[in-house]
Amino acid sequence: VAVPPAFLADVVAVVGPAHALVDHGVVASYETDWTGRFVGRAPAVVRPSSTAEVAGVLAVCREHGVAVVPQGGNTGLVGGSVPLHGEVVLSLRRLTALQAVDVDAGQVTAGAGVSVADVQSAAARAGWAYGVDLASRESATVGGTVATNAGGIRVLRYGDTRAQVLGVEAVLGTGAVVSHTGGLLKDNTGYHLPSLLCGSEGTLGVVTAVRLALVPPDPARAVALLAFDRPAAAVTAANELRRTLRPLSAAELFTDDGLSLVTRHFGLARPFPGSYGAYLLVESSAASDPTDELAAAVRSLGGVADVAVAGTPGQAAALWRLREAHTEAINALGAPHKLDVTLPAAALGEFVERVPGLVRGLAPGARCFLFGHAADGNVHVNVTGLGPDDETVDGAVFELVAASGGSISAEHGIGAAKRRWLHLARTDAEIATFAAIKGALDPDRVLNPHVLLPEPS
Ligand SMILES: Cc1cc2nc3c(=O)[nH]c(=O)nc-3n(C[C@H](O)[C@H](O)[C@H](O)COP(=O)(O)OP(=O)(O)OC[C@H]3O[C@@H](n4cnc5c(N)ncnc54)[C@H](O)[C@@H]3O)c2cc1C
Repeated sequence: VAVPPAFLADVVAVVGPAHALVDHGVVASYETDWTGRFVGRAPAVVRPSSTAEVAGVLAVCREHGVAVVPQGGNTGLVGGSVPLHGEVVLSLRRLTALQAVDVDAGQVTAGAGVSVADVQSAAARAGWAYGVDLASRESATVGGTVATNAGGIRVLRYGDTRAQVLGVEAVLGTGAVVSHTGGLLKDNTGYHLPSLLCGSEGTLGVVTAVRLALVPPDPARAVALLAFDRPAAAVTAANELRRTLRPLSAAELFTDDGLSLVTRHFGLARPFPGSYGAYLLVESSAASDPTDELAAAVRSLGGVADVAVAGTPGQAAALWRLREAHTEAINALGAPHKLDVTLPAAALGEFVERVPGLVRGLAPGARCFLFGHAADGNVHVNVTGLGPDDETVDGAVFELVAASGGSISAEHGIGAAKRRWLHLARTDAEIATFAAIKGALDPDRVLNPHVLLPEPS
């Protein structure tokens, strides 16, 4: 893969020679996605440090007709952050300005390259909390979470990333710099560009800074792991807890295959003497100890086969580890196909029970692990033992999701991985509208031209 020499010279003039990387040994670390399934080649990695430098780089790209893939923490799971078509990687990790928390408003403005964990820490130091949390928190960036509209383990309580975003600064594909980060809670002055950029996967603009709303902290937590004979019973319980347990802050589902994999891979103790068909990690958080409410709500549930209650913060962390370590343990088996789907509440239980058989029927050598944010209707179907380009299982699962009234992406986005199935989730009219927006905001197709939308005909 190559770019015109004049392109490199012009980019160096914007970011300096130290931040236009061309040595393949260095560039290589930006070319593979977190799962290892998506591997590209980039002629260069460009690392701007300010909005003005991002605008300068994009101007050079438009002039030379060179496309970029914006990249934050590169924890995305749909192949959208790596250069699969020889694009230049535009790394936003140097945009690390984090302003002081506005304690009165409960807001903060963070550069696109600030990690989610750093926003959480800054909020906590100021007596606030950030409502988005996910296992990739140390690496995932604010810009990446806006571009993917990341969900995570607190959507149930606080909503997705879009629900936290009050304003955005971004450089559009046209070169226009849009910035509206005043953080007014009421501001009906036209189209809401932050909403448009949330979930746009780097196809419309490069996010450079974000004004985030913070939430009041809930310092007291109670955590329990519930065991069920069948996944459908665990899903029913998650739905019931949404109604009966007001301080419910997480309800995470996994099955015995995943639990066995995690405990073996990391040498962790199993939480129960026996094995069960499904587990639900339940967390309740509030200003004062919510243990009694959690215990009462669990007692009123049907179908609970066993319960492990965390008596200390260390035990709570150990129970959480059983769920959060799934992604890493599955990856260690080889590059997985990750299908993050969402189903209507009433259909999720049956779906979770049907999928393993569907996968076995199509790919007898494959292994299937299901886990997810059960109270959001979101389950992650992880399939290992398939070639990176073997999409038979992916297609069959997505068809089942669509037939059940669900969506082919709950939170990871479409990226490169699910592009050919976008029509299962969106009508022709919607896809044409997306294309019209893309044409207006990125007319030269320099921003992630090969993700999310079909190639223009
Ligand atoms: C262990 C693990 C757990 C995870 N758990 C969750 C979870 O619970 N919920 C969830 O939603 N996701 C989860 N993810 C996926 C991932 O962390 C999120 O998608 C996250 O939002 C990606 O952020 P990032 O900074 O790594 O973005 P990247 O991976 O670098 O990029 C993701 C997409 O955003 C674009 N992009 C990145 N930065 C910018 C920018 N500044 N401007 C414009 N476009 C940009 C890229 O082009 C790409 O299309 C998990 C991933 C891992 C590895």
